[in-house]
Amino acid sequence: MSHFEEPAATDVNSVSRGGRVFRKASDMAPSTPFDYSKARKWAPNADFNDLSTFYPSKVEEHGVISQEALLGLYEKYLGMWLDKMPTSRKLQDKGRKNLLWGIFGSYQKDWETPVLPFAKHCMGGKLWDVDDNEYIDLQFGDTPSMYGHGPENPAVKAAAESLLNTGIDPMMGTSEQAEAAAELEKHFKLPVWMHALTASDSNRYLLAIARCVTARKNIAIPNFTYHGTIDETQKMMPEPGVISRYHEMPLYHGEVDQGTKIFVWNDLESLEECLKDESVAVVMMEPIMSNFGWSWPQEGWHQGVRALTRKYGTLLCYDETHTLGHAWNGSVGAQDLEFDMWSCGKAISSGIPGAVFGMTREIADEVEKWHNEAGFFAGAGLGFLGNALTGNTMSTTALRVTMQEVMTPKVFDPLLANADYVRQGMADVFDKYGAPFRSEMMGNRLCFHFIPERCEDPLTGIAQIGFGGLFEFAHAYMWYHGLLIMPFFNMFLLCPQHTREDLDKFLSVFDDMIAIIMGQKEG
Ligand code: PMP
Repeated sequence: MSHFEEPAATDVNSVSRGGRVFRKASDMAPSTPFDYSKARKWAPNADFNDLSTFYPSKVEEHGVISQEALLGLYEKYLGMWLDKMPTSRKLQDKGRKNLLWGIFGSYQKDWETPVLPFAKHCMGGKLWDVDDNEYIDLQFGDTPSMYGHGPENPAVKAAAESLLNTGIDPMMGTSEQAEAAAELEKHFKLPVWMHALTASDSNRYLLAIARCVTARKNIAIPNFTYHGTIDETQKMMPEPGVISRYHEMPLYHGEVDQGTKIFVWNDLESLEECLKDESVAVVMMEPIMSNFGWSWPQEGWHQGVRALTRKYGTLLCYDETHTLGHAWNGSVGAQDLEFDMWSCGKAISSGIPGAVFGMTREIADEVEKWHNEAGFFAGAGLGFLGNALTGNTMSTTALRVTMQEVMTPKVFDPLLANADYVRQGMADVFDKYGAPFRSEMMGNRLCFHFIPERCEDPLTGIAQIGFGGLFEFAHAYMWYHGLLIMPFFNMFLLCPQHTREDLDKFLSVFDDMIAIIMGQKEG
């Protein structure tokens, strides 16, 4: 199929629209209408097929300059930033000979800027690009290095030393592995652990284990969630009773509505509708929904999820990959949650490649039982629940030291004090200019939202990002002024090495940016 053609609807129950195949009516998703009203209040024209329609146009009534003016300013600051990056431009052009998009990884493409930034060097909380532009790093590769770059982070230093002094043999046990797992139990409660290299893989293995031990075929996720490069989790519910993929590049070939049930975050009724036929092996979700904006759990939500999963014999798995910095013991610690499985990648080993997945003793015993019964071909290097590099010495050292020396109250107390300083600073800026916006903090992860109301559903979460003007201008303005925030949303991260001077520089640029957005300063 050429990419110019509309993807084909596969049978009478499917329909193609806006480049995606939708399942018209599916028993994999609740049929009860979900509540658009809060998102529509700010983005009356919100349409699932076009993110820019989530632009919160109602904020203009509160004094925000026009969408058109914002897009003009975006062009201006993006152009000025790109002008400072001639070497990045050259390197990308040169890279096109042997690399897709001129770059090695698809995440590195996701800046989606006409010229992708190329890095030269990073240390602590700073980063320099190949044109020697200096940035305060606030994105850390979308989380992995959020405890600081280079040897200023003790885990990175220990991993480098381990590599130089001990070497790396991934296929042998080391005395450090059980020590690292004991640390994980102290932090995140579960007793049994395995290692993986990415969060996507940890999640993939947990879904597989859940299906194996429950003998159930389906999984369930909240609408608008992200758990990595997994077919079953890259799906959404654009309308009640309808399932589609986020995109319809023909990368995945399973039927779109097979294997995954979708419920609405903070809606116990819709979760129960998914679970009640007892076909769901596991509910996978974040402790706080952090992708596609940010939505908080309502009071009683997590306890309700735990009660329903128990009632229907479904396992409950939290993916902590984005929420790890909520506290020294993660968001499951900060919220005192109960669960059967837990997974995390990215920063769990301070950005040295590594991820972990944990489970209860009962689940672990079942896996061992199945494995013992399955015979030779469940082992023997045939990709059971890991890869050739899982459990390697360097990653294990980085994991252990992150647990023992970084994810501690001693490191977290000042880090969280700094985060609160920035959260309050942003709130003060909004007050100063009468801006109808909001700042929020989840541990070392901060967010500025372009609507004033706290958000508890992912639809409003998308509206608060401000796609279609506010988002674009804010990003280009900050990048141009040396603040490297994440390209996909308005979240940013503080690391232990950021200084008060860094934070004050951020707040000063932020003050100017909001003044421009509110028409009180020339852009
Ligand atoms: N889970 C969550 C909650 C994530 O945010 C992400 C990445 N953004 C992943 C899993 C996947 O992580 P990775 O790309 O490192 O596999």
